[in-house]
Amino acid sequence: MPRPDLLERLAVQTAERSQAQLQRRLRTIAHTDGPWVESNGRRLLAFCSNDYLGLAQHPSLIAALKKAADTSGVGSGSAHLICGHRREHAALEEALAEWTGRERALLFSTGYMANHGVMQALLQRGELCVQDKLNHACLLDGAQLAGATLKRYPHGDIDAAARQLRITTEGCALLATDGVFSMDGDIAPLRDLAALCDSEGATLMVDDAHGLGVLGNDGAGSVAEAGLGERDVPVLMATLGKALGCSGAFVAGSAALVDGLIQFARTYIYTTAMPPALAAAAHCAVAMARSESWRREKLNHLIQRFRRGATELGLPLMPSRTAIQPLLLRDAQRALEASQALEAQGLLVVAIRPPTVPQDQARLRITLSAAHEEAHVDRLLEALASLRLADAPV
Ligand code: PMP
Repeated sequence: MPRPDLLERLAVQTAERSQAQLQRRLRTIAHTDGPWVESNGRRLLAFCSNDYLGLAQHPSLIAALKKAADTSGVGSGSAHLICGHRREHAALEEALAEWTGRERALLFSTGYMANHGVMQALLQRGELCVQDKLNHACLLDGAQLAGATLKRYPHGDIDAAARQLRITTEGCALLATDGVFSMDGDIAPLRDLAALCDSEGATLMVDDAHGLGVLGNDGAGSVAEAGLGERDVPVLMATLGKALGCSGAFVAGSAALVDGLIQFARTYIYTTAMPPALAAAAHCAVAMARSESWRREKLNHLIQRFRRGATELGLPLMPSRTAIQPLLLRDAQRALEASQALEAQGLLVVAIRPPTVPQDQARLRITLSAAHEEAHVDRLLEALASLRLADAPV
């Protein structure tokens, strides 16, 4: 029997996905201007970016990036442990540790890599890793790649989480959860999870990619908002590519955690450090996210305006008070058609379909930002009203 050709098989799989109308679509954005994007020659008002505070194009961030590029160049030149760790990285790590109330912070080039690095450094083969079923793919993948025994509990189900943690009392155990769930926008029951981990001797890790900058006093995130500290959540991860408007990620915690990650996290050790100018821009973003609380206030005002309007229209809102405000349409084709109809009206809202979300859970993932204005939200509501989504089966 000749071996099957790998690329031919991949092409068949791609065609199958396309036939099922589940293919992922890549769009090139030619230009951005606040919440506006130019795509396929058309100007669209976007409700799908994670730039929740409207910092991604802020002149101060751009100036910080340019200034640092003038002195530090573009690429870092190597991994942190070789000669890529620049003073811009070190200064950003200090600012992030201070903001999150942790002893230290460690930068990673992406959130995906940060979560993999943590899992692989902390967990040994066969050890228990308990996770919410709706955690981001990189937490789930990270546990699997680490060879951990991965147990997933139904979304937010603290009793199920407790049962899974009690499967074995032998060996270490990590419980990992998103702080704010990326496709649903709701917040994990962090206080209950912290109490559970405390009583079961497990370590709690929170991925606050969508909470940092948005929730809590001075935007320190979902963990701070829940009144939890380093003792309750020893492993805190968050990204720089969402509310902070940059790119990259960090893990914050004790000096022992950070020193251990530097030694053992392969996704930290064996990859090029992020450009130092990007670290300088992110440092500027941290200062702005902390001090300009009007951005959070404006965002919250827009969230409430959207939810009020959507409720009046009978739209299938989900229980979220964050910038992520999905409309649960369930049927993948219906979600795709709704997204296309919105685009025809000049709005960019993406349809999220399986396998990114569970079967029959397709949705429009609407995200709001401090870069939006009330009139933008009203325009979105008007367009949604014209689609008659309220008639969707729930
Ligand atoms: N965690 C969560 C909850 C996310 O939503 C994402 C990205 N969407 C990541 C981690 C990965 O972060 P990055 O994009 O920096 O790789």
